[in-house]
Formats: sequence, structure tokens, C-alpha cells
Amino acid sequence: MVQTRPIIVIVGGGAGGLELATDLGHRLGRKGRAQVILVDRNRNHMWKPLLHEVACGSLDTSLDGVSYSAHAMRHGYEFKLGEMCGLDQAEQTITLAPLCDDDGNALLPARTIRYDRLVLAFGSVSNDFGTPGVRDNCYLLDSLEEAELFQRNLINQLTQLDQRGDDAELRVAVVGAGATGVEFCAELHHVMAQAQNYGLTQRQHHALKIILIEAGPRAVPALAARISTSVEKRLAKLGIDVRTQTAVASVEPDGLLLASGEKIIADMMIWSAGVKVSDFVRELGNFELTPSNQINVKASLQSTRDDNIFVIGDAAAYITPEGVRVPPRAQSAHQMASTASKNIRASLRGRSMTPFVYRDYGSLVNLSRFSTVGSLMGNLSKHSWFVEGQIARLMYVSLYRMHQVAIHGYAKTAALWLGERLMRMIRPKMKLH
Ligand SMILES: Cc1cc2nc3c(=O)[nH]c(=O)nc-3n(C[C@H](O)[C@H](O)[C@H](O)COP(=O)(O)OP(=O)(O)OC[C@H]3O[C@@H](n4cnc5c(N)ncnc54)[C@H](O)[C@@H]3O)c2cc1C
Repeated sequence: MVQTRPIIVIVGGGAGGLELATDLGHRLGRKGRAQVILVDRNRNHMWKPLLHEVACGSLDTSLDGVSYSAHAMRHGYEFKLGEMCGLDQAEQTITLAPLCDDDGNALLPARTIRYDRLVLAFGSVSNDFGTPGVRDNCYLLDSLEEAELFQRNLINQLTQLDQRGDDAELRVAVVGAGATGVEFCAELHHVMAQAQNYGLTQRQHHALKIILIEAGPRAVPALAARISTSVEKRLAKLGIDVRTQTAVASVEPDGLLLASGEKIIADMMIWSAGVKVSDFVRELGNFELTPSNQINVKASLQSTRDDNIFVIGDAAAYITPEGVRVPPRAQSAHQMASTASKNIRASLRGRSMTPFVYRDYGSLVNLSRFSTVGSLMGNLSKHSWFVEGQIARLMYVSLYRMHQVAIHGYAKTAALWLGERLMRMIRPKMKLH
């Protein structure tokens, strides 16, 4: 009798999904114990916390991007390119939308894939909270394509700046002073100096006017007040105008209309005011959802209504026994991938599950080359430690290195690190095309 291998399908090859596919590929796929399939709508993986650096042109995507097909071949899983658009929980199948090329020509028809265990790891998207005009007029840092689109338009704007006269300014408005908005502003300020060095513009730093709008009472409102104070001071030093307790009513092609009636004119606008899971999940299946569309999961990371479906990363809503809601962060996705791997393997063998334990190793905000501030060990000790400078920067970078180790192993991560250092000697410090 032919024994069929169980099929594990992971939808979303991001911070959590790619780590999980790699681990299950090594443990089950390579040994023929299961068929592990990763589905993503993109051909290449880029670690999302690097997107603001891609948008500002300070990151080399050719070095940090990972081709799913090549990675799958080396790590014992299969990759299927496509966007999940449907789920049949009774039949245990998912549907992928028809695949088209850039001109809209059909490449592949809609496809169904059967699963024994399904992992939803499709992350989150920007939340516009229903604000009119956001989708049409703002850049969103949701994907590599959007980050690259901003980068190309930034280069175009900088190229035009000198033509527009000696008093011309490039006005950039960023909505949302969470870690993403703050890091983006600092990176943009840094890149302006590079643009001048490379002769893209003759204008000095002060020709770039960055305004950061936040509805809450302080920058990085989710973090401790001491971190906010430090961040606000540093942004002020860079000349970035931070406006807290300022609500945006709508976005128009040439600027932001505030709830107060004031209009902020801007050449480029970025929306980074919060995240939610894409609305398509509302129609997807039988799930318990939060108001931001996250799927409620049990401690095992199985969805509360279907034991064959696991959910990890930003898409999962889990409240710890201590009452802490696990935040949508790369470190949460990383930790969930590891627990999900154990529990998927346990469920296939009929063994008991390991409860997910969230460890908050701290939160760090990286202000480009200027500084890094944050807190360490939020959950491990009763008191978290305020850190800044080189130690904080080292900890910040180590989160990405941990991701690289999880998907490439130690040797290749070391080789990539060496490659980055060499490339820095050869290539310009910003992408100029
Ligand atoms: C600019 C920026 C900076 C950030 N900085 C930090 C930081 O410093 N520290 C930190 O901890 N977190 C940070 N975050 C948050 C962090 O990136 C996310 O919490 C993390 O990436 C979530 O991981 P995930 O696996 O759930 O989803 P993601 O990493 O977002 O991956 C989701 C994947 O699913 C795919 N996908 C989506 N929908 C479908 C579909 N229908 N079908 C097929 N594929 C699909 C996408 O293409 C993507 O590859 C930052 C986020 C941004 C945007």
C-alpha cells in the first residue's frame, strides 16, 4: 500500500512564514516525511523591517532579497507563486487567484492546493482607518514594490529640485509616528545628505522639509515615555517637525487636510499610521476575528475554530495568560514560527501541543546612522533597561541577523555579512537609479 505524505501548506513567506517553511523543510520535507509547500504572491522575500531603507534607497535589495524558488530548492520545501483568494475548510483546500504577467496577460489559471495542515502567515497591511484619499495619494510601506516605487519617485523629485529655483523645497509628510514612521523620517534625512554628495542635488539638508504627524500625545506611543522623549529630541535635532495630537481628516493630491481645518502641503506623503490584516480575511472562512481582522488563536497557535489551521505573525491575535496582547512585530513572528513548527509536527504524530510563550526582548527604534534608542528585556526581567547608542544599534541589527540565521544558517549569514561589507566599499551608499 502506498503511504501518502501529509501536506503542509504555508501561505505567506514573510518574517514568520519563511522561517517556518525552512524549519519544516529541513525536519520533514528533506526526509520525505511531509510535503511542505510555501505560497507567496511575490517571487522574492524581503524582510519587512528593511522596507523603509529600500524606500530611501539606502539598502541593496539584490543582496538582501531572497528568491523563494532558489531557497525552496536548497531547504526541502516547494514554492508556489500565487495569491491566496479562497479557502474550503471542509475539503481542506486553498485557492490561488489566476496569475497574470505585468501586462495583465494570463500566465496560470486559478489553482487549488490540498492541505492536511494549513498555516496562515500572510502578515498585515497599512490601516487607513477609513480616511478618504489615503489609498490614492499616499505611499504605503506594505510591499517591496511600493517601497521601490517611492524610491524611484524620490530620485525624480531630487533630480527636479535644483530646477525649481534656489528656494525650492522637497516637502515630505509622514502620517503615524510609530516606529516605522520615525525610522523612515530619520532614514530620509540621512539620504538627503547622500544625494548631495552624489550630485543629485546641490541643495543642502534644509531643502528637505519632513513633517511627522501623530494623532496620539507623543512619538512612538506604544513604547515607554522615556523612549518617546529621547526620540522626539533626536528628531528635533535633525530638523524634523513632529506634530503630536494632530489628526488627519483626509488626504488630497497636494497635501493633508487636518481635522483642525489646516492644510499641510506636501510633495510626497507616506501613511504609516497602523496595521490591520487585509479585509479579504473577513470572507475567507470560519474564523473568530478581532476588529483589525486578526485571527484569534489558541496557545497552540491553532485558530480557535479549526485545529488544522495554524496562524502566525501579524495575522494572529493571541493574548498571553498574563493578559498581554502579542504585538505585530518581527520578533513575535520569529517566535511563533518556532512554536508552530513544534506543534505542526506534534499534531501530525498525535502528540500534545507546546503552548506559545511570548518573550518580549525589548523594542528598539533605529534613527538611521544618527542613533538607536529603546528598551531591552521587556518581559524577561521585571524592569526593562533603557538603551541607546552602539549597544542598542547592535541589538537592533541582531534581530535581522537572527532572521538570516533562521533562513540561511550561520555560514551563509556570515558570508552575506562579509558580502555586505565588501559591497559597501564598491557601491554608492544610496541607490541612484
Ligand atoms: C517599514 C517597517 C519597519 C518595521 N520595523 C520593525 C522592527 O524594527 N522590529 C519589528 O519587530 N518589527 C518591525 N516591523 C513589523 C514587522 O515587519 C512585521 O511584524 C513582520 O514582518 C510580520 O511578519 P509576518 O510573517 O506576519 O508577515 P510579513 O513579514 O508581512 O509577510 C507576509 C507575507 O505574506 C505574503 N502574502 C500576503 N498576502 C498573501 C496572499 N493572499 N497570498 C499569498 N501571499 C500573501 C506577502 O507577500 C509576504 O511575503 C516593521 C514593519 C515595517 C513595514
